[in-house]
Amino acid sequence: MKFSIREEVQGFSPYEAGLSIDEIKQKYGLEKVIKLASNENPLGVSPKTMKVLEKKANLAFRYPQSGSPSLVEALAKNIGIDKKRIVVGNGSDEVIDLLIRVMAEPKIHNIVAFEPCFSIYCTQAKLCGVELRRTPLNADFSFDFDKLLNLIDEKTALVFITNPDNPSGFAVTKEEILAFAKRLPQNCLLVVDEAYIDFAEEKYHCFSLLEEQKNIAIMRTFSKCFGLAGLRIGYGIFPEEIADYLCRVRLPFSLNILAEEAAIAALSDNEFYAKTIELTKQGRAFLTSEFTKLGFKVLSSQANFIFVVTPTTGMAKPLFQFLLERGMIIRTLSSYGQAEAFRISIGLAEENEMLISLIKEYISTC
Ligand SMILES: *Cc1c(COP(=O)(O)O)cnc(C)c1O
Repeated sequence: MKFSIREEVQGFSPYEAGLSIDEIKQKYGLEKVIKLASNENPLGVSPKTMKVLEKKANLAFRYPQSGSPSLVEALAKNIGIDKKRIVVGNGSDEVIDLLIRVMAEPKIHNIVAFEPCFSIYCTQAKLCGVELRRTPLNADFSFDFDKLLNLIDEKTALVFITNPDNPSGFAVTKEEILAFAKRLPQNCLLVVDEAYIDFAEEKYHCFSLLEEQKNIAIMRTFSKCFGLAGLRIGYGIFPEEIADYLCRVRLPFSLNILAEEAAIAALSDNEFYAKTIELTKQGRAFLTSEFTKLGFKVLSSQANFIFVVTPTTGMAKPLFQFLLERGMIIRTLSSYGQAEAFRISIGLAEENEMLISLIKEYISTC
């Protein structure tokens, strides 16, 4: 037998997700495991959202309304934009995938991003048979827009930037993004992935550019600040014409009925939202200061995680293992070409303290 497998698909390996809590519990016989590896909300699901989920569970037998119009309406009102410009999906992953398939013609168009970048841009471009062109970030993880521009030509359908960036936490101001957007050729859409924007200062938010600059799109998600990673909800704000095409080709029921209800509830829970931001900023300052005192290099972060570089070469691997065996999961960055660094999600105050005390214990045993 020789089945046909598309050339683009041969040689694909599956997405490498962070380790799961259950996996680690089982492997090391632990009762409690703390996961600071996937930038989830340490407060969990908002109480208001929990209530709605319980109340609406009995709707699970129904098909959702195609296109999740109630959520689109709630979002339009919440962020203050025409609902015709909003496209929701099963995680922003789905919207990114759709966008590439709708805008980029295989073997003709290209997509441009920095290296490293969010892996979904790469895998979905590859799956579509669309060329992905990348240029390295600066050594300090800042963006060199001139270098990005050098890769762009009249066949560039999309440019992706992540702001604040993952895994560095670096952010560019909206003025810098506007200046870059103005230099792009016509027909090229600049996609600003704002998965972590809630944790960033106001000057980094691009939303106010959408009216004046027509070639900018923004991606957002409910996976981080809103604490709903497991329900898979993301959305993009696009020029109306593009949004219209995305909605025409999207699978009709991509957002499930409970996800839609949960997202609407989460949007209205201002108290939980504010608490999440406050907790994250406090934890970020605490971890940055403690890691610096211990000799680690910590990048300045506008996100709900920090990027830390170990003080000595060869320390990252054994330290990671030491933490894992004691029930603390953080994110190694070899897949980003950063063997000596970690990305650590900001946890609850006691989780952050536990992490620091474990690291002190490790250092004292060396
Ligand atoms: C976490 C993250 C997302 C969110 O993806 P979902 O599919 O909505 O969970 C998007 N972009 C980046 C860069 C991220 O880190």
